[in-house]
Amino acid sequence: MKILIYILVLFSFSNFFSPLKKYTKTEMVMGTVLSVTAFHTQGGEKLLNELFQLAESYEQLFSSRREDGVIFGINKNSSGILKDDKISDLINQSLYYAVLTDGAFDPGLYRVISLWDIESKQIIPKIEDIAFAMKESGYKNVIVNGEHLQLLHNAGLDLGAIAKGRIIGLLADFLKEKGCYDFLINAGGDLIASGLYDKKREWNIAIADPYNKNETIGFIKLSDKSIVTSGDYERYFIGDDGKRYHHIIDPVTGYPVDNGLNSVTVISDNPTEADALSTAFFVMGIDRALKLAEKLTGVEAVFIKKDEHDEIQIITTQGIIMKPQTGNGFEFGIK
Ligand code: AMP
Ligand code: MG
Repeated sequence: MKILIYILVLFSFSNFFSPLKKYTKTEMVMGTVLSVTAFHTQGGEKLLNELFQLAESYEQLFSSRREDGVIFGINKNSSGILKDDKISDLINQSLYYAVLTDGAFDPGLYRVISLWDIESKQIIPKIEDIAFAMKESGYKNVIVNGEHLQLLHNAGLDLGAIAKGRIIGLLADFLKEKGCYDFLINAGGDLIASGLYDKKREWNIAIADPYNKNETIGFIKLSDKSIVTSGDYERYFIGDDGKRYHHIIDPVTGYPVDNGLNSVTVISDNPTEADALSTAFFVMGIDRALKLAEKLTGVEAVFIKKDEHDEIQIITTQGIIMKPQTGNGFEFGIK
């Protein structure tokens, strides 16, 4: 018995003292590039392989485009039984953010979103088709009663503006359960920075320049926070009229949001909240979004647009500090 205890003690000490190694993995999942950097004592490769498999299964769970997914079936039948707590939980959360943002974030836009089908079609739909799809849209048509879900007026669910945030949160929980606390998960602009880089410093996170894909507007140092960006520069096409048609739909008009904003970044402790609000703030525009952000605790945001002289304007919530860096954009921080 004593020997066993010694061995156990020795084993845990060796684990404790063994140096942290850096593990990284990048692959396409969820229609986006998922990239993870994790500091872990040993077995990091296996851990990250498991994480990527998990990401794939969550994407199947939450996607409305995958024909083998639960949401696809619900949209087809206009009803469904929510057997998996993770699905009912995310649908309820999405309805919560729809009410909080007065419908700017709307999980019931599936018919309009699939009509535009920005990723593959690149055509402006006919005005009457948009009007028809709008009649079949809106979160008020999504009725949840316990585990029963009903979709009125042929509405459909699209959780694309919140699912990635929830998924990175679930992936972060998985890493922590496995004893890994220092990591960065980046799912195409939805990030969680947990713990420290190499136990030494906060993670340094770039905020993308919406006008130049390979550039950054600045950096922010974060630990134990999520940071999510919504913008008009990732998924879009240029119409015959020369206008940009992107993937964030104004639930009032059924057309891509056209309020001058090009990018909204939200920082929060909760990745689901950061994802839902980055889309919602983009739809709401700076004035409305700032009012709501200042009412919420622990939510900060950075808005980027161009003014009438084509000058870049960066506007932030009160909790953000912004210092110019020579030749390197801005250094952002949380007060
Ligand atoms: P995000 O990149 O998080 O801003 O989410 C954009 C995705 O959410 C789109 O590709 C659509 O699937 C969906 N979406 C578009 N407009 C809205 C909206 N107003 N409310 C909720 N989801 C939306
Ligand atoms: Mg979002």
